[in-house]
Amino acid sequence: IQRTFSIIKPDATKRNLTGAINAKIEAAGLRIIAQKRIHMTPAQAGHFYAVHKERPFYGELCEFMASEPVVVQVLEGENAIAKYREVMGATDPAEAAAGTIRKDFAVSKGENSVHGSDAPETAAEEIAYFFAGLELV
Ligand code: ATP
Ligand code: MG
Repeated sequence: IQRTFSIIKPDATKRNLTGAINAKIEAAGLRIIAQKRIHMTPAQAGHFYAVHKERPFYGELCEFMASEPVVVQVLEGENAIAKYREVMGATDPAEAAAGTIRKDFAVSKGENSVHGSDAPETAAEEIAYFFAGLELV
């Protein structure tokens, strides 16, 4: 059993897609063990995406992530990290496989509806940044 961290991004919360995205998550056998709606400051978004600091889209990405509330989640299941990335689909919706969240809902490569951790170390860091241990049930 593994845990991963997920964000339902502003483009998706704005269009009331939280339930539709959660349906895909649960249909894949992932359990939502923690979830809350927050509105990040640009500084918090900047900290979260610090690995992309040198990329040309960093400023735009931080502004987007702080533009509207997001839903942050912890997902649990067998192979949760890889499984959720499969459910999300490719970063660019044009390249995402049929039935994936990004294929069905993403607007663009930047406004791509969801985030999912990419490795066990980042999953642990991201979960700890947004949730207290007692919130994980
Ligand atoms: P995430 O980390 O959000 O789960 P990812 O791992 O599929 O997505 P990354 O390469 O880590 O993709 O990029 C992080 C985020 O930065 C992307 O999800 C997207 O919102 C944004 N992004 C990535 N590449 C571009 C780009 N070329 N133009 C605009 N935004 C981009
Ligand atoms: Mg990533």
